[in-house]
This record gives sequence, structure tokens and C-alpha cells, in this order.
Amino acid sequence: NEEIFKNVISHAKEYGFVFQSSEIYDGLSAVYDYGQLGSELKNNIKTYWWKAMVQMHENIVGIDAAIFMHPKVWKASGHVDGFSDPMIDNKDSNKRYRADQLLEDKIAAYETEARIAVFGDKPYIESGIIHDLNETKFQNHPKHILAESLQIEMDNALKAEDLSRLKALIEEHKIQCPVSKTCNWTDVRQFNLMFSTQFGAMAEGAEEVYLRPETAQGIFVNFLNVQKSGRMKVPFGIAQIGKAFRNEVIARQFIMRMREFEQMEMQFFVRPGTEMEWYKKWKETRLKWHLALGTDPAKYKFHDHAKLAHYANAAVDIEYDFPFGFKEVEGIHSRTDFDLNQHQEFSGKKMQYFDAEVNPETNKPYGNYVPYVIETSIGLDRFFLVTMINAFEEQDLSTDEKQDSRSVLKLHPALSPYKAAILPLTKKDGLPEKAREIMDQLKFDFNMAYDEKDSIGKRYRRQDAIGTPFCITVDYETLENNTVTIRHRDSMEQERVAIADLQKIIGDLVSW
Ligand code: ATP
Repeated sequence: NEEIFKNVISHAKEYGFVFQSSEIYDGLSAVYDYGQLGSELKNNIKTYWWKAMVQMHENIVGIDAAIFMHPKVWKASGHVDGFSDPMIDNKDSNKRYRADQLLEDKIAAYETEARIAVFGDKPYIESGIIHDLNETKFQNHPKHILAESLQIEMDNALKAEDLSRLKALIEEHKIQCPVSKTCNWTDVRQFNLMFSTQFGAMAEGAEEVYLRPETAQGIFVNFLNVQKSGRMKVPFGIAQIGKAFRNEVIARQFIMRMREFEQMEMQFFVRPGTEMEWYKKWKETRLKWHLALGTDPAKYKFHDHAKLAHYANAAVDIEYDFPFGFKEVEGIHSRTDFDLNQHQEFSGKKMQYFDAEVNPETNKPYGNYVPYVIETSIGLDRFFLVTMINAFEEQDLSTDEKQDSRSVLKLHPALSPYKAAILPLTKKDGLPEKAREIMDQLKFDFNMAYDEKDSIGKRYRRQDAIGTPFCITVDYETLENNTVTIRHRDSMEQERVAIADLQKIIGDLVSW
């Protein structure tokens, strides 16, 4: 599994899906850039979410709120006082850990062996997947890159063979100072996860503002603006896609836990007392959204929260079976009237809704109330990772005659960066011109790739690797009768079709 994960990460880089941020400066920890294909895939995921959540629901609308918000917002929301992780510093190595994770039993069990600090020009091994230091790819690496490569998954207990390899490495490299018992720890302190910055050009009088750690508050503070300007009636929802920032103490696992990431959130405002019904509905609806992309249902599960945040009366995570185990991709929370009440109190503005519908029990309108909220919150980057892991396959295509294999990204065609690739069989005899002509007809409706370099077989493989569902080959017969071959990515089967039918064929196959 570790191998699969590593392959997905290197595939993502090799084909321009995800790069480490500022890579030429050795990267910035837990910050990533989406490349030419990654940004297409990400946009397609956003479109799928926006269509399903906003455009398919008459009673849900979308907004795009600013990242900066009034500092009081985060007081009201509880983030200033409560959005923190317990952390502990190792005074010897100057390394910071999340105390809750460090103190877990399973970590304590192997910490003597695993938590070793190396000083000078030797790598610092905090914990991690253990690689052989003698591997040529690690030679001449700056220390911190090596240290990254050596990261041990804190959540997973080390296997016996890892421990013995680790011991051998310690011996071989004369690594000193096992961190555990003999080390010098600070007390556990609370570390706020919000990034702050100075607002305004003047140093004096400048105010500290935060980069939002979630998009939800932009929705809560606009609740009345949207309700009034859009003449929305409870129950209704407000959706948003946008960046969020968290100074995660331990950021790892590629785009799983980042310091700058994107969320797709929807807050659904309901009449108090009806929230459980809506909570159930959204739980089911959201799981269906995930499964509609063709993921194996066995890879998904609900994880009901046993411990609830003080403001929630129900909460569940939708978890995906990542190569490192089941982990949260989306949270669905019944948040009661906590958020709107807090903003009412801190802003002094009423956050009430007048419900004119008649209550059959009292024969009077339901009247004024602060609505309850069901929230669905999914990490765009985390779902991007799910999509890549789920789609990535290495296939052995060997026959008796020859060895062969391919890497293929079996993306849902609607998510694929390119919908089809146009490939002239050769670079001469008017084939490229004909191919461009077809491309020019189709590019208004679909994002198309054009490739005339290398053999046709190699070009097919390249499109397989980036998830293009169809390859359209222009050959000599095309010049005679205006037909082309369409090759299907997953089955690798080919069929001959008329150029005039291409638009409909591709359109039908790549639609939602
Ligand atoms: P976790 O327990 O994994 O830290 P969380 O419970 O803090 O997540 P929420 O605050 O509920 O997460 O945020 C909703 C969603 O945002 C998560 O389900 C996840 O997909 C995404 N998310 C949260 N933190 C990060 C992060 N640091 N990097 C990428 N995605 C994130």
C-alpha cells in the first residue's frame, strides 16, 4: 500500500498534476501547487460539486466570500479560544510534536527506537517510512529532503522488520540521542492553528487579522444578506468553494493535510426540530455524490462521532480507505443554532428568520427563530487525492510474445483533464492538417489534446496515463471517407466512426 501511495505521488508529479510549492527552493512544507493537468482535474471536481449541490437544488445558492474577515468573527466562532492542538517541544532537537499523537500508547511503544535526532550534517529522523540511506537517490540530498523521505507515519505502528532496519541504520550511521525518556521536553501547550497577518499599511494601529481556517463563517455572516436578497425560504442552503488556511502542527501525507487548502462547504438552514431529518438526508445524499463517480462502495464508510463538539447534536465523517487506512474526506455536522447565535451576540445584529408557514399544532405561523444548521464540508484537495488513488492502475499487459505494461488513470470521463486526444497517425501527407481541422471543431465543447510526437502506441499510453478517455486517430482512411478511429481508454478497444458523429459520441460519454 505504501508503494501504491508513493507511485500515485510520483505519477502526479511526472504528469503535471501536483508539484511541491517553491520546489526550486526545496519546497515549503505542506504547501502544494496544482500543475497543468491538476488544475483541470480540480476545476472539474469543483464543477461536479457545484452542479450537484447548487445548480441541481432550487433552494441552494452559492457565494464567494472573502478570505479576510473581521477579527471578531473568529472570536464569535470560537476559533480564537478553541481552535488549537496541544503541542510539546523537544528542547534537544528543537522539534515540535502534537502531544496527543506523541502520547498515544502505540507511539510510546516504539518511540525509543524511532524517535532519534541526528545532529550536524546527518539527517534528522523524526519518524517515518524507512528508506535505505545508501540508496543512490538519497546521495547528495540536502538534509531536510532526506529527513522528509524518512518520515514515519505516526499513526501506524512500526512493523518488526522496520524496527530492525531502523536499528541497523542507527548503528551504521552512529546516530545518537534517542529522543524518548532521556530527552528534554517542554510542558504541553496549546497552539492555535490560525495564521494571522497585519491588516492595513501603518505599523501603528494595524490590526491583526486571520486567514480563514474554514469557509463556513463567510456563509454564516452572510446568512441574512442572502436570505433577504434572494428571497430564500427555510429550508435553504448556501454553498461556497474556497481556500482555507491552517497552521497544522504536523502536516504530512502529500495533499492530505496541507497548510493552505480548499474546502467545498454547504450550510443548510432548517426549522429547529427538523434538523435530524435533514441531517439523515444530507448524509445519504453526500455519500451518493461520492459513489456516483464509480468508486468501489467498499472503500467508503461512515464514521459516527461518539464525542460531539459542544455546539453539535450529531456529526459523521465520510471516510475513504486510503493506502494508509480509513480517513476523513468529508464531515457532516448538525451544528444547531450555535453559529448564528454567536454572531447575533457578538455583532449585536439579529440573525432571525420569520417563518410564515402555519404550524398545524398551534394554527399560527412558526414566526421568528434562529435557524438550525446542517453542514456538509469536504476538502477539495483530499477528494482530489481520493480521485487520483481510486483511478490509478498499473496494468500488466504482457502476452506470451512480449512483456508490456501501462499506467492508466481511470478517471470518470467527466473529471478527465482532456476529454479526447486527436492523434494524426503520421506527421505527413495532410494528416496533421486534417487532425487540426477536427480539433478546431471540437475544442469549443471539450478540452482537447493534440499530439503528433512519437509512435501512435506511445501516444496512446501517454493519454492513458493522464486519464484521457478517448483517443481519436486520423489515418489515411480518414482522408478518403471522413471517418476516424476512437480508442477507449479502459477497454483499449477501437471503433471506426464518422467525423460528423464525434461531437455527439464524446458528449454522451463525458457527461455527468
Ligand atoms: P482532520 O480531523 O482531518 O484534521 P477536521 O475534522 O479538522 O479534519 P473539518 O474542520 O471538519 O476537518 O474540515 C472539513 C474538511 O476539510 C475535512 O473533511 C477535510 O477533507 C478538509 N481538511 C481539513 N483540514 C485539512 C487540511 N489541513 N488539508 C487538507 N484538507 C483539510
